[in-house]
Amino acid sequence: MTDSAVDASNGLHRSLWLDQALTKPGSPCPPLVGDRLADIAIVGGGYVGLWTALELKQRDRAIDVVILEQDICGAGASGRNGGYALSWWTKAPSLRAKWGDETARDLILKSEAAIAGLAAFCDEEGIDAEYTKSGWVWGAFSKAHTGAWEQAVQACRELDVGDLHELNREAAVHLSGTETLASAVLDRTAAMLHPGKLVRGLREAALRQGVIIYEHTRVRHFSRDRPARLVTDKGIVKADKVILATNAWSAALPELSRSIVVVSSDIIASSPMPDRLRNMQWLNRAGVNDSSQMVNYVRTTAEGRLLAGKGGLASAYGGRVNKTMFHSPERAHVVKRQLDKLYPEFSDVPVECAWSGPVDRSSDGLPLLGSLPGCKHIIYGIGWSGNGVGPSRIGGRALASLATGYRDEWSSLPVVVDCPRRDLPAEPFRYFGGRLVRAAVARKDRVEMQGRHPDWITKSLAALAPRGVEDR
Ligand SMILES: Cc1cc2nc3c(=O)[nH]c(=O)nc-3n(C[C@H](O)[C@H](O)[C@H](O)COP(=O)(O)OP(=O)(O)OC[C@H]3O[C@@H](n4cnc5c(N)ncnc54)[C@H](O)[C@@H]3O)c2cc1C
Repeated sequence: MTDSAVDASNGLHRSLWLDQALTKPGSPCPPLVGDRLADIAIVGGGYVGLWTALELKQRDRAIDVVILEQDICGAGASGRNGGYALSWWTKAPSLRAKWGDETARDLILKSEAAIAGLAAFCDEEGIDAEYTKSGWVWGAFSKAHTGAWEQAVQACRELDVGDLHELNREAAVHLSGTETLASAVLDRTAAMLHPGKLVRGLREAALRQGVIIYEHTRVRHFSRDRPARLVTDKGIVKADKVILATNAWSAALPELSRSIVVVSSDIIASSPMPDRLRNMQWLNRAGVNDSSQMVNYVRTTAEGRLLAGKGGLASAYGGRVNKTMFHSPERAHVVKRQLDKLYPEFSDVPVECAWSGPVDRSSDGLPLLGSLPGCKHIIYGIGWSGNGVGPSRIGGRALASLATGYRDEWSSLPVVVDCPRRDLPAEPFRYFGGRLVRAAVARKDRVEMQGRHPDWITKSLAALAPRGVEDR
């Protein structure tokens, strides 16, 4: 959209997930050449763009929907993530505080239904996304983190949502595969899946419904008038409505630059070792997160790999998604060191591949949907904050309602706002302040992992960090 956006077709490091999904060639989606009209143009072919397109077609097959994707569908976060499909239960305390019990309950139930809906959708469409309703373990690997989930669990009990089970050490060790886990809570509504197969399956499903997808078609800029003109390298789309499903790249737009910060999430994967995982009964089972603020996550895959990730190690100046957001050997080393601490059982296991991706964090960890100021026809859905696998389905419904002018339960979700929030500092304060805050978060995590309490300056600075999946 501005020239600062990275040209992802220019040789970006891909994820293992996407490489695996691409071994099954999909239908061709050549770039846009020439000019055309569309009822609705969606920028971005990740989960949000694809779900929105599918939802629009389900409501009215006659709507002419085109997706413009600068790389291939799934090249962004949707083909790179950890594959945890989680609900919003971890947000229960802040959802209640913001919008009251009834709305909090409704949002959490909708996010649970989105996970179940993923399984049904994959069944109907014949997508083998390796969906396993294995649950998710949020654990304490140090005394300082004991009960990090308590407030959220209590709020869910009071709201009568969730399927949460607090685990003693024995159960936690059994479910997580590591002796270092002291206690945990198991969320049975969560599922694990193969993100690459899901996003490429969504792409095929959208094509079947008549969505036109142009890959390798970067939108260089678009006009704010109506119809909007979306200018790409070899053609122009004139569209009555535009949907920006551009995740972290949205931070390059002046209207959205203060709504999100762009941070990295970094993943490493071992070579397959199904026998070893099977012996310890941890093959294709629950995904595990620790309670660090810069979260560490560990899971196994259907083919028997160990996969570990960490969120928030780097941020992007001015929200510019540059190449280091997609791969960083230095950050991969940090992830491996963390894995060795949490899972000493696997310290002998070599890393076979590593990749990263950009995450669009909002200040409260919840998505932001709405339209650009003064442009009701240019709609955006961003700020998934590292929890987009399940909630992007909700996003697709809400964005489709906003684009078609339906006033329904989706367009009236409280995450739909009239005007983009500008609650994050401007540059250069954001970047340099962010570095200070990130250093404090890292210090706090380190001290807490040693079972000690951080000093108040560290705690106060760390509290300024935008929220992730959990409320802390
Ligand atoms: C490493 C990593 C791990 C994660 N783990 C999890 C997890 O386990 N569970 C979870 O729920 N969430 C996770 N997330 C977050 C989740 O992946 C995202 O919230 C979700 O994929 C967002 O979908 P999206 O469609 O908004 O974004 P994306 O998939 O990033 O799609 C945006 C698309 O827009 C395209 N685009 C951008 N600018 C332009 C332009 N100018 N013209 C044309 N196209 C453009 C990009 O190429 C990209 O394909 C993780 C993210 C990362 C990076």
